[in-house]
Amino acid sequence: MRILQHAKLIENSVYNSLGIYYNPGMTFAKLAEYFEKLEETSSRLALIDILSKLFDEVKSDEIAQVCYLLQGRVAPFYEPLEIGMSEKLVAAALARAFGVKREQVLKEYGSVGDLGVVALRLTSIAQGKLPKNKLPVDEVFETLRGIAQTTGEGTVEKKVSTLAGLLGKVDGVSAKHLVRVPLGTSRLGIGDPTILDAFAKLKLGDKSKRKLLEGAYNKVSDLGLIGETLWKGGLKAVEGLEVTVGRPIRSQLCERITDPKTILEKYGGEVHVQYKYDGFRVQIHKNGDSIRLFSRNLEETTPMFPDIIKGVLAQVKAKSAILDSEALAYNPQSEEFLPFQETTKRRRKYGIEEMAIKLPLKAFVFDIMYLNGKSLMEKSLESRIKSLEQTIKGDDVLIPQPGEITDSPERIQELFDDALTKGLEGLIVKRPDSKYEAGARNFNWVKLKRHSNGELKDTIDCVILGYVYGRGKRVSFGAGALLVGVYDNKNDEFVTVSKIGTGLTDEEWREIHKRADKIKVDKRPARVNSILVPSVWIAPEIVIEVLADEITRSPVHTAGKTDSEPGYALRFPRLVKFRGSDKQAEDATTVKELIEMYKLQFKK
Ligand code: ATP
Repeated sequence: MRILQHAKLIENSVYNSLGIYYNPGMTFAKLAEYFEKLEETSSRLALIDILSKLFDEVKSDEIAQVCYLLQGRVAPFYEPLEIGMSEKLVAAALARAFGVKREQVLKEYGSVGDLGVVALRLTSIAQGKLPKNKLPVDEVFETLRGIAQTTGEGTVEKKVSTLAGLLGKVDGVSAKHLVRVPLGTSRLGIGDPTILDAFAKLKLGDKSKRKLLEGAYNKVSDLGLIGETLWKGGLKAVEGLEVTVGRPIRSQLCERITDPKTILEKYGGEVHVQYKYDGFRVQIHKNGDSIRLFSRNLEETTPMFPDIIKGVLAQVKAKSAILDSEALAYNPQSEEFLPFQETTKRRRKYGIEEMAIKLPLKAFVFDIMYLNGKSLMEKSLESRIKSLEQTIKGDDVLIPQPGEITDSPERIQELFDDALTKGLEGLIVKRPDSKYEAGARNFNWVKLKRHSNGELKDTIDCVILGYVYGRGKRVSFGAGALLVGVYDNKNDEFVTVSKIGTGLTDEEWREIHKRADKIKVDKRPARVNSILVPSVWIAPEIVIEVLADEITRSPVHTAGKTDSEPGYALRFPRLVKFRGSDKQAEDATTVKELIEMYKLQFKK
C-alpha cells in the first residue's frame, strides 16, 4: 500500500517555479479520466467501484472539491453559487482559447448538441501545441469558483477570458468535462447515497456501512464536509458533526395512513395533531440579524421572501434558531388562505418586493430544531413545541403551531373535517415523544389528506425515465408513452412502475418534449434499473405527480422486484401535474412507500 501511494505521489509530482519537486495533488486530467469512466458505466455497482478508486487517490484537502465537481458544482448544493455561463459565453471562451470563430463553435454545437464534445474536438485538434497537462484539481476548482464569484463591471468579459485561459491549459477529455460545469450540464448521474456508499467502501471497509455516515449527512447536508471530516478525523469525527445555523438540515418527511383509527393503533396512545398547510416548506435559520431560508430540497430561498425575513426579525426572540415551517399566501383583505397555485407565484427571481405586497405570506411554524447555540433535535416533539411557543412572539407573519394532543379517533376526524372547511389539505399527525429525525420518512409523522374526489387517497410522485415513440396522427407532438419509475433509496436507484400514455394532452406532450429532449442520454443511466427499454432514455430528473386506481404486482416492472417476487406497478395511471423545482428525482415516492400503499389497499 505504501509503495503504491509513493508511486502515486511521484506520478503527480512536478517542479515548481523554484525548481523544487513537490506534489500538487490530483491533476484535473486524472479526475476527468474518472469522469469519463463514470459516464460510460451502466451499472451502479461499477459507479461505486470507480468512485472509491478515485477517492483513494484524493487527499484530505481535495476531497470536498472533488465531491462538488462530481455534482457539477463549485460549492455545496445549498450555497446559491452558480457559474451561470450561457452556451454563447462558453462558445466564446472556446473560440478564444483555440483561435477559431465563435460562429464556428456554435455551428459545431448545433450539429453535435453538446459543447463538451465540441471542446474535446477543438482541444484534440490543437493538442500538438499544448504542454503536458499538470493542472491540479485545486487550481481548476478555485478558478471556476472565481468565475462564479465575479461581479460588477466587465463581468462577462472576465468570465469568458478566465474560462478561455483554463481551456488553453487542459487536454481534450478535461476540456469536455470542464465546460459542462459552467453550463450546468454535468450529467454523471451520481446520487448522494452513491457517493456515501463509495466513502463507506473505501474508508469503512464496506458500502453497507453508509448508514453510519447518513446521520451526520442528514444534519449537515454537505457531502464535501462529510468527505473532508472523514478523511481528516475518521468516522468518530463525522459522527460528531452537529447541526449549525446557516447549513440546512434535511427535512423530516411524512408517511401516509388513510384513517385516524389506524394511526392511533400504530402509535398505541396519544398523538400530536397539526393542520397540514399546502404551500412551501421554509426552513428558517436565524443567527443574530442574519436570516437564511431554505426550501424542502435545501435550495437557498432567502432573496425570495423578504416578508418572512421581516417577520423573523420582529417575532423570533432568540439569538440563534432553526425553525421548520410551511409558508402560504394570505389575502389580508378577505383574511383567506390562498390555494397553492397562488402561493407558487411567490417563487420568482424578479418583482419580488411587489409580489410580497400583493401576496404576503404567513409562515406556519411547526417545529424548532435549534435554539441559542444548542441543537434540540434529540428532544421530544412535546418539549420542542414548548420551546417554539416561548421563542415566537405574536402571530403577525410567523404563526406558531402548538397543535393538539388527543387519543380519540373522533377528535382526529373532527379536526380533519375542520381543516377541510378552512380550505386546508388535511392533517399531519405526529408521535409526541419523537425526536426530529433529519431526512427520515417514517411513521413518526403521518399525513392524512383528502383527494379531490372526496376520498382519502394520495398521489404518487414518479420520475420520467424515458419515452416510447407513438403511432398515429398525434405523433407530431411526440405523443407515445412515458416510462416512469419511483426511487429506491436503499440502493440509490430508479425502478420502473408504469408506462403512462393515455390521458396526456397534446400540450402536456409538448411540455414533456421541451424538457425531456434537453436531457436525453444515449444509454440507460447507471442508476436506472429497468427491464423495459424505451425508444429514448432520459436522465432521471423530471418529477410528475401521478394518480392511479390501484397498485398491482407485475413481473415487468422493477419497483420492489426481487429474485423470487414480482415488482409493483400502477394500474390506470394518469398524469396529475408536473412537479416544480421543489422536488428532485430523489424526492420522488420511494419503493418502501409504494409497498406501504399497496398493503393499505387491502386494509380498506
Ligand atoms: P413530501 O414532502 O412528504 O415528500 P409532498 O411534497 O408531496 O410530500 P405532502 O405529501 O403533501 O407533500 O405533505 C408533506 C408536506 O406537508 C411537508 O413536507 C411540509 O412541507 C408540509 N406541511 C404542512 N403542514 C405541516 C405540518 N404541520 N407539519 C409538517 N409538515 C407540514
